[in-house]
Amino acid sequence: MNSQLQQSVSVLKGVGDDKETELNQLGIRTLNDLIQHFPYRYDNFEVQPIENLKHGERVTIEGKVQSEAVVRFYGKKKSRLTVRLAVENILVTAVFFNRHFLKKKLNIGHTIVVTGKWDKYKLTITGQDVKFGSSDSSRKMEPVYSATGSVTVKQLRRFMNQALQRFGADIEETLPAAIRKTYKLPGKKEAYESIHFPETAEQLKHARRRLVYEELLLFQLNMQAFKRRERMSSQGVTHTFEESSLFSFIDSLPFSLTDAQHRVIKEIITDMKQPLKMNRLLQGDVGSGKTVVASVAMFGAHLSGMQSALMVPTEILAEQHFQGLQDLFKETDVTITLLTGSTKGKKRQEINDSIREGNVDIVVGTHALIQEDVHFNNLGLVITDEQHRFGVNQRRALRDKGYEPDVLFMTATPIPRTLAISVFGDMDVSIIDELPAGRKQIQTYWVKPPMLERVLFFIQKELKKGRQAYVICPLIEESDKLDVQNAIDVHAQLQQFFTEYQVALMHGRLHSEEKEEVMASFSNGATDILVSTTVVEVGVNVPNATVMLIYDADRFGLSQLHQLRGRVGRGEHQSFCILLADPKGETGKERMQIMEETQDGFALSEKDLELRGPGDFFGSKQSGLPDFKIADVVHDYRALETARKDAIHFINMEQFWEDDSFLYLRNHVKQSGAWSGTKLD
Ligand code: ADP
Ligand code: MG
Repeated sequence: MNSQLQQSVSVLKGVGDDKETELNQLGIRTLNDLIQHFPYRYDNFEVQPIENLKHGERVTIEGKVQSEAVVRFYGKKKSRLTVRLAVENILVTAVFFNRHFLKKKLNIGHTIVVTGKWDKYKLTITGQDVKFGSSDSSRKMEPVYSATGSVTVKQLRRFMNQALQRFGADIEETLPAAIRKTYKLPGKKEAYESIHFPETAEQLKHARRRLVYEELLLFQLNMQAFKRRERMSSQGVTHTFEESSLFSFIDSLPFSLTDAQHRVIKEIITDMKQPLKMNRLLQGDVGSGKTVVASVAMFGAHLSGMQSALMVPTEILAEQHFQGLQDLFKETDVTITLLTGSTKGKKRQEINDSIREGNVDIVVGTHALIQEDVHFNNLGLVITDEQHRFGVNQRRALRDKGYEPDVLFMTATPIPRTLAISVFGDMDVSIIDELPAGRKQIQTYWVKPPMLERVLFFIQKELKKGRQAYVICPLIEESDKLDVQNAIDVHAQLQQFFTEYQVALMHGRLHSEEKEEVMASFSNGATDILVSTTVVEVGVNVPNATVMLIYDADRFGLSQLHQLRGRVGRGEHQSFCILLADPKGETGKERMQIMEETQDGFALSEKDLELRGPGDFFGSKQSGLPDFKIADVVHDYRALETARKDAIHFINMEQFWEDDSFLYLRNHVKQSGAWSGTKLD
């Protein structure tokens, strides 16, 4: 396949040892690599009519020189050249910096083509590129590549051109004709030619469309094949229980479940009752009642005689879940235990024994509970809260211990749909898109720092009513680099202001026992105000807290702000979120306004993704996003959804595994190892 294109780039004229090394540094070894080094933008040299030119944009105009160029020098090397041009009978000024040598060439009456930044109001172009003579219709859009060292963009253009000219015939079609026809996609060779050297914007658009679709389709084919293999290859646990018993547990809860909770419970228990391994992501906004759903699932496991593990990222959360579950299960015979890194010595030994002997139904803990000396009697269900902190390694750790439990990942960070289907495309997704009835909206206000005192008086009013408040700061200690309020300072200030109240401090550098203590005292109402860094971010539940004040709120992402806001509004009282911020840029202001206006975590996460990119959701390194060459999961989400649907369809199609037209796609899946060869039903 593609034999010619698999040759080293050194077969190109002009690529000697040095250039080859530099190209290698760009990840370009073969001709194939080269032609997949796509431009990241294009210089547009297409001459446009003056009335179409947009202010502030890079444009190209053609005009006749009307006057002799005037050059002014600043210092030794700096100069400014101005020349007047007649463009469509309108007088335009062209300015060039540090190019005084152009003066000799700018002869009155001659035609030139200037590319540069357009000022609509001053009718001025700041030239970056000039060409003498009329515009050359062959030079319209030029690709701009990322380049390095001594390899210039111009050289890359030449290499690219040469590669396509000499070896282009070897570019094989990879998509079946039927698909290309359905979506009106150009052929592969044509797409490569136009992505590098487009003649029109239209042509470029279609070339890109084709390459994006193909890239996403290949990615999704692997994902879907992998998902099928995971589900089919080895048997998971089959839970067996009477649904009526489950429903009487649900009926015993102090509230009735929302429709959304009912729906996701059904999805989960359907999975649990099948011999397949459940691999499900449960998404739901803060306070949507995921924990209750989890407890129903764990009750189901208990009914079928299996143990469950509930894994959470922090000890505080483990403690809280432990207490919450004891409450929910108090009328049942379910036994629950807590196991974290700080469970030590004899106690730990006892707990380990009871887990191993099967005397415990539910184990709540941090990830310590699967990594260390813990052995379950019959682990049937693993639930993790805040799934992005539970990685592949932990899953493998479980498997290595011989468990193949059903797995449910819960997240309160609404993951934008686009990311969910690309990163978690191998999972099934359940969504709780409804809050329990009677929840009041959290009133959110963005205020600037001079308003702080008024905010504090407002908090005082809430405290007088017996409520509590959170105050969040971005950092623990003062930092030279960042001009942000720090928790320690703020704590000291607030202690002075709220002399009649208990103000506590919490941050990540406290020992876990200290954290537990601080949290416990806030939880039981002994502390009125909790000043904290973002360690309270996930899951903490104190229904009596009604104010969330966030310092330097513009330093947080929208999803994170939403998480923090979700700490209040958990009880019967009206709650408030106050964002203290003086954002510098426009997006900062926009983000504060969005927070004031919307309570929908999914909408916020989509917006976050748009404004800040996907890195924020998972940390850019472990984002799990593949390194796409041309596709962009944020902007190409429609293509991603199409590709996903098609991938699922193809994998289930007889022809996909047999027909010649699918040969390339099929081989791609087989070679990736995502498919073990067993054919589906
Ligand atoms: P999440 O884990 O999604 O943030 P929780 O499960 O902690 O949400 O639920 C938040 C609060 O709402 C808890 O106090 C819980 O008891 C309560 N709750 C959950 N489901 C319902 C419901 N259907 N009706 C009323 N309250 C509910
Ligand atoms: Mg929760």
